Amino acid sequence: MDFDLFVIGGGSAGVRCARIAAGHGARVAIAEDRFWGGTCVNIGCVPKKLLVQAGEYGAWADDAAGFGWQIRKGPHDWTALLAAKDREIGRLSGLYRKLLDGAKATIFDARARLTGPHTLDVGGRHVTAERIVIATGGHPTRLDIPGAELGIVSDDAFYLPNMPKRVAILGSGYIAVEFAGIFAALGAAVDLVYRQPLPLRGFDHDLREALGEALGAQGIALHPGCLPERIEAHGAHRRLVLNSGHAIDTDLVFFATGRRPATAQLGLAEAGVAVNAAGAVIVDEHLRSSQPHIFAIGDVTDRLNLTPVATAEGHALADSLFGGRPRSISLANVPTAVFSSPPAATVGLSEEQAAARGPVDVYVTKFTPMRHTLSGRARRSMMKLVVDQASGRVLGAHMLGEDSPEIMQGLAIALVMGATKADFDRTIGIHPTAAEEFVTLRTRTRVAGEQRAAE
Ligand code: NDP
Repeated sequence: MDFDLFVIGGGSAGVRCARIAAGHGARVAIAEDRFWGGTCVNIGCVPKKLLVQAGEYGAWADDAAGFGWQIRKGPHDWTALLAAKDREIGRLSGLYRKLLDGAKATIFDARARLTGPHTLDVGGRHVTAERIVIATGGHPTRLDIPGAELGIVSDDAFYLPNMPKRVAILGSGYIAVEFAGIFAALGAAVDLVYRQPLPLRGFDHDLREALGEALGAQGIALHPGCLPERIEAHGAHRRLVLNSGHAIDTDLVFFATGRRPATAQLGLAEAGVAVNAAGAVIVDEHLRSSQPHIFAIGDVTDRLNLTPVATAEGHALADSLFGGRPRSISLANVPTAVFSSPPAATVGLSEEQAAARGPVDVYVTKFTPMRHTLSGRARRSMMKLVVDQASGRVLGAHMLGEDSPEIMQGLAIALVMGATKADFDRTIGIHPTAAEEFVTLRTRTRVAGEQRAAE
């Protein structure tokens, strides 16, 4: 065999797996034909957060008057922002490739396709490998409606030649609410069209409600309970027709309606690798596919599609295969943040999930953050703990508000360690911060899940 391990895909999962495996002494090859660093680095988390930060400066300039500053805000230069973003992303992407070089992995800047259980076609070259890892990630999808080709997806949003004046965004998941915040903060009139009554299905109800209010306070026009019917082109403009009969005239229609695993034309059938109805590679708890020597990591398995999960899977798999240290990753208590404006962050169970298991004490607080008592900006924060009545363990922590992702990372350690409400209560706060609210929540807001206990 040419290699001990061949990794298909140079994103967060693939690069980590290849690098660690090579460090353990394996003969490793990795192929990537588009973006070293994958979606996260090139057209995902990293550039998205830079755009979020760009938007924050505008609001801060407005806020400053409340603190005595006389700042006259000029126009925003979208072209300059994208050029600066491209420079940074180019640097980061290069770094990912360099790390692999340093680890002595064989790098193919090419597309790889399986031709059999142990054979691959890599940019026209025949290669054999003992073990293979599929780490090809996913792609954003459009809805199947007339005129769908007139809309864009998140891949395109990072390269728009001009900042649109009006944007209509479809969906209310991570990408929809993040880009709604970005475009609104940079001055666009934003319409958010979604089929649920509240954004972010699957998240805690209070968090979703607080986010809905925050999006409204940011001036975003919300269209809950709506489905798009078709998109029409009117010259350079677009008309988005909804099932209610209402039409939105806009400059840009943005599909943020989910992502699909990138498994087409990979030769999975030739190699005997099973996929599910959504096209995701089916894996067991050791990330093994239906072929015992072929593994899959990251979004291509469509389980918990978050970069740090993908990276952790890549690392664990390399350690298990070549480091003499078999281990797997727990998908419980994985913290996550949505970089809306303000951001939402969460770890553990929502109130609804926890209450389905048994009675829980719920603590909720809502307040105006200190900064905005002077800035005058209409901004509220929401913080919440969900506590198991029987054990006192904190099962879930949720926050909408500035710095919530930074705060939630620390709380996640507490939840992973099994902290109880009493542990939170005996922790001294840092004053004056928003974070201290999490250790001073004394008054129970309500009890949930009692019905379940009585059954
Ligand atoms: P999500 O799955 O989060 O959201 C998809 C949205 O599209 C939902 O609002 C969904 O509605 C809606 N939708 C799907 N199908 C239809 C349909 N047929 N008609 C109308 N609406 C529809 O996907 P995203 O594209 O936002 O993001 C993909 C994934 O990428 C995320 O789930 C997350 O795992 C990851 N991600 C993580 C980020 C982070 O960590 N900050 C940032 C961006 C992405 P409904 O809720 O009703 O199903």
